[in-house]
Amino acid sequence: MSLDDLSRDQVQSLLDEQTAAHSALKQRGLKLDLTRGKPSPEQLDLSNELLTLPGDDFRDAGGVDTRNYGGLTGLTEIREIFAPIMQVPVEQVVAGDNASLAMMHDNLVFALFHGVPGSEQPWGVEESVKFICPAPGYDRHFALLEEYGIEMVTVPLNDDGPDVDAVREAVKDPSVKGMWLVPTYSNPTGSVVSEAVAAELAALETAAPDFRIFWDNAYAVHHLTEQQTKTADILGLCSASGHPDRPVIFASTSKITFAGSGVCFLGSSADNIAWYLSHLGKRTIGPDKVNQLRHARYLKDVDGVHALMAGHRDILAPKFEAVVSILHDRLAPYGVASWTEPKGGYFVSLDVVDGTASRVIELTREAGVAMTPAGAAFPYGDDPRDRNIRIAPSYPSPDELAVAIDVLATSVLIAAAEQVLA
Ligand code: PLP
Repeated sequence: MSLDDLSRDQVQSLLDEQTAAHSALKQRGLKLDLTRGKPSPEQLDLSNELLTLPGDDFRDAGGVDTRNYGGLTGLTEIREIFAPIMQVPVEQVVAGDNASLAMMHDNLVFALFHGVPGSEQPWGVEESVKFICPAPGYDRHFALLEEYGIEMVTVPLNDDGPDVDAVREAVKDPSVKGMWLVPTYSNPTGSVVSEAVAAELAALETAAPDFRIFWDNAYAVHHLTEQQTKTADILGLCSASGHPDRPVIFASTSKITFAGSGVCFLGSSADNIAWYLSHLGKRTIGPDKVNQLRHARYLKDVDGVHALMAGHRDILAPKFEAVVSILHDRLAPYGVASWTEPKGGYFVSLDVVDGTASRVIELTREAGVAMTPAGAAFPYGDDPRDRNIRIAPSYPSPDELAVAIDVLATSVLIAAAEQVLA
């Protein structure tokens, strides 16, 4: 059913009823926030043991004093834990500080100033530089490109990854130097790049000889169900297709341990890693190895990471279930929205009636619920259909979350009814 199946009178009474509910919610003086995908305090508590590590034993397995300068590639013991997760040989993994976003930033800036292996000249001296952006996507990826004047070419993001035909068309342009991808449980739709799509992207003939896939595997181990979705082996696929330098793989412990004090990782071909380190060495003498050591001691091995992630899942899965169930109960009867039911990651992506997302967010704000601005998941903040809304369920308590989603559903119904009656 959709609202079009109702008479105008029926739509008007729906609007009256929801407007009354909205006014009642406004009276409650709510102050709720569904904007950013932050771990909740209960999730952060899972890793409190980190606060006592590494203690007095501050030498790594090789006897290095982690308190001192140096060790640009990061400690071997933490790289060993994440190399199999990233599907990259440990020698080709760099461990850094607390933000993979900073590594992404540096890769772009180094490329603009110096070019990458295979470049004829620095990207920055080219007439124009473009990146392919599957959308909906991660707003901070797009903000980085905007910051440095890299033009964004939007392609649709499907359930199995980006629309490969659209990507194939885009890479015929030699100024298209790269693309973003969140391969597993993407932000915000939760889509997973299939093996077949990954293989096609790896094999694509691109006009730019130095084309890069920025493979941001931020949610590699962030399962919400028993199903442990495995990320495609992009490094292996690209090497097999004769493009070993194409993928640059990012990951971090931000949503594993402490979001603000974790460890980030970069994995790529040996040539790309040598290139990255040569420029990184000018920026820093070395990473925070004390932090890396305490992470290695705490996580221990890959199984330790998975065990910790099971703890996160126990906290997060019921929140995601609540979001989906409230949306279903409130919106499905009117056919005014569709939403993702992700098997992992941090977000639910909600599509409301075309042309109403901005109004919905205005209504939620009036009732005290902050949402990410409409269009945020699209390059230049421009959702051509003004319909997509990103929901971040992780931070609020279950009770707060239920109220916030109720406000959201009420707002979706009001905006949809208003549109029919306009
Ligand atoms: N990549 C994606 C897709 C994200 O959603 C986020 C955070 O929301 C990040 C990267 C940030 O990662 P980090 O904390 O390692 O900078």
